Amino acid sequence: MQLLDGKLTSETLKDEIAVEVQKIIANGGKKPHLAAILVGNDGASETYVNAKVKACKKVGFDSTLVRLDADVSEEELLNEVRKINEDPEIDGLIVQLPLPKHISEIKVTETIVPEKDVDGFHPVNLGRMTLNLPTFLPATPAGILELLDRYDIETSGKHCVVIGRSHIVGSPMSILMARNTKVGNCTVTLTHSRTTNLEEISRSADILIVALGKPEFVTADMVKEGAVIVDVGITRVKSDKTKSGWKLKGDVAFDEVAPKCSFITPVPGGVGPMTIASLLKNTLISAQK
Ligand code: NAD
Repeated sequence: MQLLDGKLTSETLKDEIAVEVQKIIANGGKKPHLAAILVGNDGASETYVNAKVKACKKVGFDSTLVRLDADVSEEELLNEVRKINEDPEIDGLIVQLPLPKHISEIKVTETIVPEKDVDGFHPVNLGRMTLNLPTFLPATPAGILELLDRYDIETSGKHCVVIGRSHIVGSPMSILMARNTKVGNCTVTLTHSRTTNLEEISRSADILIVALGKPEFVTADMVKEGAVIVDVGITRVKSDKTKSGWKLKGDVAFDEVAPKCSFITPVPGGVGPMTIASLLKNTLISAQK
């Protein structure tokens, strides 16, 4: 078994991005600039946004963090988005999800101009992705593709099973793995909460991508010998062994699954850091335009 080390790979990617930033500056250009909007003070969202801001600093980007109260109205949030849309200094905008229940996530996503939608969630960008046109790929699936690519994982002709059909991970992932591209060309099965024979399907996967948000859901008996496992899940579970009182768990029971597979992503240190690196890459592409 070999680890698909997202932490290490993302560091390499960030170094490459930092070199590109230096080139832009040397040619008299301005630093790429990412803006993030955080609504409320959910602990996990706070952690993710802070990690993104820190990563911007690391590669030499400018960043702006807009904090809004949890009871901000939808219109106020949309106005913030419109302001950033029109700001020529800003290349990319993300609105940290989830949003409070009174705000429509799709309305917010559709208000971000596609040219600054570096999370790749806008319907225009998702449509372009489906058609295999140049676009901002959704950050988490893009990070997974990059990881599979850098570890030279053969995908052509393989059976890829995706567990979870969210708009930000599972659905786009299933489309990307089936595209006629270097990482792609799989036969893909997209499974979800209404799938009846999940264990059997999961056991037939050469590449299993798990994104459902249920800690240790995938057990050893659901995995084929030699499979490649990508664990997207991140759930905070209580722990008396950490200072914070919680630790992160993936959707895969790592200790029992790892010995059975050829490659596996750890949690933390797998898909999470790759997601951030992909977000930076999208922002760089936006700035270069
Ligand atoms: P979501 O909650 O939007 O969707 C969950 C999906 O899982 C649904 O499509 C549902 O049909 C499916 N599902 C639920 N129970 C199931 C079951 N018993 N069997 C099969 N399918 C089932 O999920 P999401 O936003 O894609 O997030 C999934 C997990 O990935 C979460 O833990 C989230 O925190 C994590 N995540 C991690 C990153 C990262 O960068 N590592 C990014 C995004 C999400």
